[in-house]
Amino acid sequence: MSEPAALRFVKGIGPKRAAALEAVGIASAAGLLEVLPFRWEDRRAFARVADLVPGGPDTTLDLRVASARLIRTRQRGFSIFQATLEDASGAIKAVWYNQPYLERVFTKGARVVVFGHAEIDRRGEIVLANPDYERLDADDAAGVHTGRIVPVYRKLGGLTSKALRAAMHGVVEGLGPADVLDPVPAEVRLRHGLLSHADALAGTHFPPGEVSMTDLAERRTPPQRTLAFTEIFLVQLALAARRDAAVKAPRAAHYEIPEALREKLAKVLPFKLTGAQKRVLREIGDDLRSPHPMSRLLQGDVGSGKTIVALMALLVAIDNGHQGALMAPTEILADQHARNILALLQRSGLPVKVAVLTGSQKAAARRRALADIANGHAQLVIGTHALFEAGVTFKRLGLVVVDEQHRFGVMQRAALVSKGSRPDVLVMTATPIPRSLALTLYGDLDLSVLDELPPGRTPITTVVRTEKDRARVYTGLRQEIARGRQAYVVVPLVEETARTDLKAATAFASFLKKEVMPDLVVGLLHGRMKGDEKDRVMSAFARGAIQVLVATTVVEVGVDVPNASVMIVEHAERFGLFQLHQLRGRVGRGSAKSYCVLMVGEDGRGAASERLRTMEATSDGFKIAEKDLELRGPGAVFGTQQHGLSDLQFLAVILRDPALLDAARAEAQRLASEGRAEGLLAELTGGWRQRLELPALG
Ligand code: ADP
Ligand code: MG
Repeated sequence: MSEPAALRFVKGIGPKRAAALEAVGIASAAGLLEVLPFRWEDRRAFARVADLVPGGPDTTLDLRVASARLIRTRQRGFSIFQATLEDASGAIKAVWYNQPYLERVFTKGARVVVFGHAEIDRRGEIVLANPDYERLDADDAAGVHTGRIVPVYRKLGGLTSKALRAAMHGVVEGLGPADVLDPVPAEVRLRHGLLSHADALAGTHFPPGEVSMTDLAERRTPPQRTLAFTEIFLVQLALAARRDAAVKAPRAAHYEIPEALREKLAKVLPFKLTGAQKRVLREIGDDLRSPHPMSRLLQGDVGSGKTIVALMALLVAIDNGHQGALMAPTEILADQHARNILALLQRSGLPVKVAVLTGSQKAAARRRALADIANGHAQLVIGTHALFEAGVTFKRLGLVVVDEQHRFGVMQRAALVSKGSRPDVLVMTATPIPRSLALTLYGDLDLSVLDELPPGRTPITTVVRTEKDRARVYTGLRQEIARGRQAYVVVPLVEETARTDLKAATAFASFLKKEVMPDLVVGLLHGRMKGDEKDRVMSAFARGAIQVLVATTVVEVGVDVPNASVMIVEHAERFGLFQLHQLRGRVGRGSAKSYCVLMVGEDGRGAASERLRTMEATSDGFKIAEKDLELRGPGAVFGTQQHGLSDLQFLAVILRDPALLDAARAEAQRLASEGRAEGLLAELTGGWRQRLELPALG
């Protein structure tokens, strides 16, 4: 490849902007082109003011500023910027809140392009509220910012969408065939009817005039499909290469699962395993006896019984003379695992030494645990993030289990894995990742699914309630308590550490305690409490000494108190659907009928009602995740930020077009099996390499 064109020589960029872009990691014109628009605007022809209808679709208008003024309200720091904008057909009012600097953009007579829809304001006037805008200057070239479908970018390195568009246009104009490397081999491109990378980028930034806006929005145009294929192909190539390396690497030790061990394991089991649990254990057992280290993702809905599966695997490793580590995302969960596992071990008489390691342990306990882990005395180590900290040394770490893995960053997992010499790895999650996405995020993992709940569970009744139902809700809660059951009341925190919110949670707990249920034992649990204090509250709740537990979302994942049968979620509209599913999963764990009450504030009622109705309608985690995906996007639902994949602009395509994924994956695997993966990956530019480095399990 020729030297990448330096940014500062690109028309429309110059030294200052080039430096700003370099500061955010974009060093060349080719690198800049990889920054894709997040949407496109149809500026081939503009809508007319006269044709605007309230509640109509988003449209683009080409307007002139007739007048504008900033209104400061009596409320401090709150301002409204109001402009009257006109075209040949008429004038319309536009308003923006708290953007006083707009005074400098919307100067009288300026030409602005705005994008938004009309609505009726409180005075009954038709208005554009908070539309997107772009000021056009007299010397702005037609054909870049108007008269075509234009790309809209997220701000980057201080450059606005418009500045980026100008820069991209400059780059695309000057693009020679040798300026952009083709990451996909020509034979593969040919076979799948793909464009060259340069053409794909150019056609994505500046789509030709006849393209359909819907196709663009859904990433279906030929240039976009080429880019999606490329991205998936490269990720799959990297995963295949990694997988090949892992397969070639032999495991540190051979495991065996003799009959005697099977009998021991059977004694630990407090119940009969479900068919799904048995099947998954067979899959894990096969991995553990195979000559190569295990890398397995165990996916199972809330309450499907992942913990016992993990424990069985850990006991196999331990029986074979290795240490096992179980990592949980919260102290509450780590302590709960320790408590439950110790009880199971004790009951069965299996002599396994357990050490617990959490962040807020007392110094002496921590020292003891660290020593035991280092000298191998501790066979099973249960803990939080503390497990992968620098000072922790394992004697012989054989198996790493990561519970609720989506709560951990990939790097954190890798840090723990690196404490052993190629240990087996089992990661567990309740998030029902669609197969296509799982392959992308975890293509180097084998997948096991627990698709069966333990028997005897009664479905949970879920209802949405408002303030006026509150008294009735508490009556219901009391009835359940009178039956000997327990309840959670979850209050949202914007941030677990925010003081004001914490005060609200504490205040709510004492309100319940004093005003509503003075005769009941009410406890409070939140993330800012000390470790042993949390453990005290949680154990008290687990043994039934606390009847109503007011908690923040620290109880969202993993907490298992089967006697609890009521989950009340305050301000349910503030939670994501899948989060609500996880919260609801804290009840319905025993055989008793359980209830989940979603309280909504009056304000949240309208917008939230559709989302929350999903919760009333189904308890199927997969359906809920799908809906959540639709409403909030993959990043929010699957925590893909943690995989470095928020950059994967085409996650949406992956979900919608599994055939494309399969094709890209098949090609990548074929090339890898021919030994060509490393070579192809080595040719990639820095930007790509950075992105591909991240979805590593270590
Ligand atoms: P999750 O998959 O959400 O981590 P857990 O492992 O916490 O689920 O299990 C949920 C509850 O179901 C626990 O109380 C556990 O003891 C119980 N459980 C798990 N497997 C079975 C089974 N096969 N039969 C009966 N109860 C089970
Ligand atoms: Mg769990």
